[in-house]
Amino acid sequence: MTATPAVERGAELRAVTVEVAGRRILDRVDLQVGPGELVALIGPNGAGKSTALSVLAGDLPPTAGTALIDGVEAHRLRPLELARRRSVLLQQKGVSFSYPVREVVAMGRTPWARTPEASRDDERIADALARTGVEHLVDLDVTTLSGGELARVSLARVLAQDCPIVLLDEPTDALDLGHREQVLSLAAQLARDGGAVLAVLHDLDLAAAYGDRVVLLHDGRVAAEGRPEEVLTASRIGDVYDHPVEVVPHPGSGVPLVLPVRPPSRQRVSGTLDG
Ligand code: ADP
Ligand code: MG
Repeated sequence: MTATPAVERGAELRAVTVEVAGRRILDRVDLQVGPGELVALIGPNGAGKSTALSVLAGDLPPTAGTALIDGVEAHRLRPLELARRRSVLLQQKGVSFSYPVREVVAMGRTPWARTPEASRDDERIADALARTGVEHLVDLDVTTLSGGELARVSLARVLAQDCPIVLLDEPTDALDLGHREQVLSLAAQLARDGGAVLAVLHDLDLAAAYGDRVVLLHDGRVAAEGRPEEVLTASRIGDVYDHPVEVVPHPGSGVPLVLPVRPPSRQRVSGTLDG
């Protein structure tokens, strides 16, 4: 047996392996996210980030190893118990049904129906709409929203669910610069309020700026884990992402900025578009 005690609160993967059709997608992955911290999960396309998040959420049983939620094996928790402990923003944020935005966000409250918490439904929904800045969209049909609007509405539903564990798969991928910062500030605030927050991020600068810890996945394994400045070194990121990078301190905050190495602009082929 392992010597480390289970985290009493938060979510944890212990030596999790996932195999699909004989292919190993995760290979003995250890990952913890505890109350009060925002963990950024990074790695190239296909590294296994979404798979790790599904196992952490209790949605995908591992082939080997253990997923723990609040110290309990995730597969022992009934769906309703899971839904009261962790909320999940999926990478695919598409909604195929015509619903007003208000109802989509209200769906986040269903785990609390017929509990004393239900008396807070209106307050939680209003708070989630305000924090994600989508109050002006409440009467619109969700299928008519832009990608960025839909991403924020989906996040509002996750916030309305009001769980201590929050798992976000690429919450910023459709968002503009300002909304990216807003969403990550919000995620960081959830952590400061005691939440255990995991965010899968492609933007390494956001991971560095907002992550208390960064976990780098590569080919289904944890390639590095630690504080942003420990994980985001030029040689490691260059290797894992298969492109040379420079890492420089952000002029304002000092946290690492990862810059892809590019040819000087004068060496670029300058051309004009025909027609
Ligand atoms: P990431 O989120 O890091 O881009 P994923 O976790 O989505 O990566 O996928 C990791 C790898 O596992 C990919 O190569 C993907 O094609 C494969 N994979 C994920 N889910 C399945 C599945 N259900 N069946 C087959 N292969 C899968
Ligand atoms: Mg993914």
